[in-house]
Amino acid sequence: MSRFADLFLGMLGADSKKPEKVSEEVRRIMVVKYQDKDRYIKEKLHARAHHNPSHKWRNRRWAVLAAVNLLFVLSFWLDIQILEGALTASRFVGFHLIDLNSALHVMLAHKHIIVNLFIGTFTVFLLWVLMGGRSFCSWVCPYHLVAELTEKIHLALAKRKLVTDHEFHRGTRTVFWVLFALMSFITGYTVFETLSPTGILSRALIYGPGLALGWVFLLLLFEVFWSRRAWCRYVCPIGLTYGVVGSLSPLQITYGVEQCFHEGDCRKVCLVPHVLDVTIKGRAAEAQMGLGPDCTRCGLCVDACPTGALRYEIKGLSQLL
Ligand code: SF4
Ligand code: SF4
Repeated sequence: MSRFADLFLGMLGADSKKPEKVSEEVRRIMVVKYQDKDRYIKEKLHARAHHNPSHKWRNRRWAVLAAVNLLFVLSFWLDIQILEGALTASRFVGFHLIDLNSALHVMLAHKHIIVNLFIGTFTVFLLWVLMGGRSFCSWVCPYHLVAELTEKIHLALAKRKLVTDHEFHRGTRTVFWVLFALMSFITGYTVFETLSPTGILSRALIYGPGLALGWVFLLLLFEVFWSRRAWCRYVCPIGLTYGVVGSLSPLQITYGVEQCFHEGDCRKVCLVPHVLDVTIKGRAAEAQMGLGPDCTRCGLCVDACPTGALRYEIKGLSQLL
C-alpha cells in the first residue's frame, strides 16, 4: 500500500505498521548510528541535557489564534466589517468564507448543492489546502486553545496519579463523522452545529456568553478527569474534514531519521501521537518523511524535539526555519 493510503487510513483510525521495506539511506543511517553506540548515547544525553524548549511555535500559534478570533470580535463590536460573522460562516473584506464541515452539513440537511454556499466553501477549501488542513484546528479553533490549556491540568493530575487517561479507539471519530452527517441528512437540521464547541465558543466570544457554554465546560471537565483531549481526538468531525483537505496540502511537518534519538519527547506533547509513530525506532522507511494529514501543524513537536529532527516544510521547497 502507498504511504499516502497508509496515512489516510491512519487518520480514519487504522493502526500504523512497521514498514515492509526501508530505503538504503535509512539502513546506512541506522548502521552509522549504532556502530558507535557509546558515542551515540553520549550525544543523546548531551542533547537532552542542553535542550531548552523554546515554545517558539506554540507562542506564534497562540498569537495567530488570538488575533483571528479578536478580529471577529472587533469587527462586530466596532462595526469595522473586516471579518464579519463567526467561524462557521463569515465575510472577510467582502469575501464569503464558509466552514467546510458546516457547508457539508447544510447541504446534506437541504439535500441539494447550494451554489452560493459551494462558491464560499471553495475559497475556504483552497485556503486550507495551502495552509495545511488541520492547521485550522491548532491555529484558529478557539476550543483547541481552551482544551490545550486545560490539558495541562489533566497532565498535572495524571503525574500525581490522581487521574488516568482513558483512551478510545481512534476510529470513533470516523464513526461520529458519519453519524453527524447522517443526522443532518435525516433530520434536515445541522445537529452538529448545536454541539460544536468551536461554533459555541466563537459565537460566545463575539455575541456574548450563553447557556451553551455549559456544554463546553462539561466537555472540558470530561477531558481533565477522564480522557485527555477526548473531543478533538475521538469526536470532532471538523478535525477529520480538515484532515482530508490537509492530505492535499504542501505544508507539512517533516521528520528526519538521521537527527532522531527515538526518545519520544514529541509523542508526549502531540494531540495525535499516532502521526509520530514514524519516530519509533525501525518505523521510518525513508530518511525524510512527512507526518501526514492528521497532523495539526501545531509545532509542539518541533519545539519539543531536542535534536531538530522535526521541522516545518513546504513540499518541494527547502526548509522554512
Ligand atoms: S478537532 Fe474540532 S474542536 Fe478540536 S481543534 Fe479541531 S476543529 Fe477544534
Ligand atoms: S505531529 Fe507535531 S505538529 Fe503535528 S499535531 Fe503532533 S505535535 Fe503538532
